[in-house]
Amino acid sequence: MITPVMPTYGRFDLAFERGEGTYLYDENGTRYLDFCGGIAVTLIGHAHPHLVAEVQAQAAKLLHTSNLYRIPQQEKLAERLVEATFADTVFFCNSGAEAVECALKTARRYHFANGAPERYRLITMDGAFHGRTLATIAAGGQPKHIEGFEPVLDAYDRVPFGDLDALEAAIGPETAGVLFEPVRGEGGINAIPHELLAAIRILCDKHGILLVLDEVQCGMGRTGKLFAHEWAGTAPDIMATAKGLGGGFPIGACLATEEAAKGMVPGTHGSTFGGNPLACAAANAVLDVVLEPGFLDRVQELAGYLGQKLGTLAARHPDVIDSVHGVGLMRGIRCTGTNGDLVAALTEQHMLTVGAGDNQVRLLPPLTITEDEIDQAVDALDRACATVSGASG
Ligand SMILES: *Cc1c(COP(=O)(O)O)cnc(C)c1O
Repeated sequence: MITPVMPTYGRFDLAFERGEGTYLYDENGTRYLDFCGGIAVTLIGHAHPHLVAEVQAQAAKLLHTSNLYRIPQQEKLAERLVEATFADTVFFCNSGAEAVECALKTARRYHFANGAPERYRLITMDGAFHGRTLATIAAGGQPKHIEGFEPVLDAYDRVPFGDLDALEAAIGPETAGVLFEPVRGEGGINAIPHELLAAIRILCDKHGILLVLDEVQCGMGRTGKLFAHEWAGTAPDIMATAKGLGGGFPIGACLATEEAAKGMVPGTHGSTFGGNPLACAAANAVLDVVLEPGFLDRVQELAGYLGQKLGTLAARHPDVIDSVHGVGLMRGIRCTGTNGDLVAALTEQHMLTVGAGDNQVRLLPPLTITEDEIDQAVDALDRACATVSGASG
C-alpha cells in the first residue's frame, strides 16, 4: 500500500527534533554532527539566534501579502543583493529549480526583446543538476531524472564538463546562452577552473549570447566569496541562487543585469509566494550574518583548514578515499568503494553527509562551523573509513 507521503525518496530511518549550530538532535536526544546541512541549505547553522529572532518577529507581524502589493522586505533584500553582486535586478521565487526556470525564461526573453526569438537553446554541461521540474530535468540531462518523464524539452545542447572547445563548437544560430554550475554539486563536486570561467565569459560576449550561472548550491558564501564566480574575476549575465539564501526557509532568486533582464517586463513572469515577507525576513537575516565584515574571510580560513585535514585523511585511507574535490566549505570525497557505504558508516558515527554523482560523499557544513567541529568531523571520517575498509577487506 502506498504511504501517505508519496514514496519518491529513499530516506534514512532518522527524524530530528531540534538543531543547534552544527548539530542536530534526533527524537532520542542523540547528537549528530551535521555536514549535510539539509543539502547546503542551513548556511549559518541550526537555530541561529539572529535568524530565529527575525523569522519569529516577522511571523508575528505578517506572513504573506502576494506580489500584488509592494513588499518592503523584498525590496530591501533585492537592493542588498544588487549592491553586493553584478546584478541590477532580482526576481524572487521559492526554490532552486524555480530560480533556474526564471533564469531560462529571462535568457529567452532577452533574445526575443532583441528580435532574435530563434535563440532559445542553452548549452549545458555533463553531470549538471538544475532541479526537478520538466524544464530543469531536461537542462540537467541525467537519464535517472528523465526516465518516464519524456518527452523532455528539446532546448539544450550538452557538452563535456569544462570542455571549452566543445562549448564553442556547440554555439549556433539558435544558442541563447551557456548554463552551468561554477562548482558542480549534485553531479559530484567539481569546480570549473577560474581561467575557464573567464574564457567562457569572453566566448559568450564574442557570440552575443548570455552567461547563465547556476549558483543554487555553490553561492551564498559557500566557496568563501559571496558567489563562486567572483573567484574568476568575472560575472554572469544571469544567475540563479537558492539553497543557503534563506538559511532553511525556502526562497530562491534569479539575479540579472539590466541588459539581460530587458525582456522581463510586467506580466512576463510571476509567483504567488515568491519573496513574501517571511521568506525575505529570513534571507535578510542570513545576509546580515554573511555580509558582516570578516565573515567570508573566516570562511576562507576554515576552508583552508578543512582542505588540509581532508588531504591528510585521504593519505591515511587510500583504500577508501580515491580523491578529494571541491573548494571552500563544499567538498567531495570520491570513494574507491560505494559512496553510499561511506555515508552510512558516517551516519553510524553520528555524522551526517550526502552522496553525490561521481561516487562522492559531499561535505556541506554550515559557514559558522569551528575548527574544533572540523576536527570532530575528520575524526568521525577517520573512524568511518576504518570500518568501511574493514568491511571490504
Ligand atoms: C539543489 C539545486 C537545484 C534545485 O533546487 P531545488 O530547491 O531543489 O529546486 C538547482 N541547481 C543546483 C545547482 C542545485 O544544487
